[in-house]
This record gives sequence, C-alpha cells and structure tokens, in this order.
Amino acid sequence: MAGEPKRRHSKARKRTRRAAINLAVNLVDCKNCGKLTIPHTVCKNCGFYGGKSITKEKVQVTRA
Ligand SMILES: [Zn+2]
Repeated sequence: MAGEPKRRHSKARKRTRRAAINLAVNLVDCKNCGKLTIPHTVCKNCGFYGGKSITKEKVQVTRA
C-alpha cells in the first residue's frame, strides 16, 4: 500500500509552490549593475535591458 495524500492541495497552494520555484531558479546577474534579476526582463534596480537603459521611456514604477 502506497502512501496517499490525505487532502488535495488547493489551486492557490499549487500555484504558489510553482511560482516560488520559478522565482528561485530564474535569476541572472544584471550586466549593468550586477544585481540578481529575472532574465529577459528589465532590471528592477537600474532599468537596463539588452545593453540599453530603458529608464527614460518606461519606468513609471512608483511604489508607495
Ligand atoms: Zn541592473
């Protein structure tokens, strides 16, 4: 008799687990500032992507 889970995991629990895995694995050093960032996205720290600074055009991320 194999062990069986007592309860199924909710959708939120499943998605949270998978999201955490993705976030933990996909991190690359930023070419400009050297901080860890998600690949193929604009760096949150300096706004660099693909050797260009994109801060002037698109960064209006003002979090309170
Ligand atoms: Zn950067």
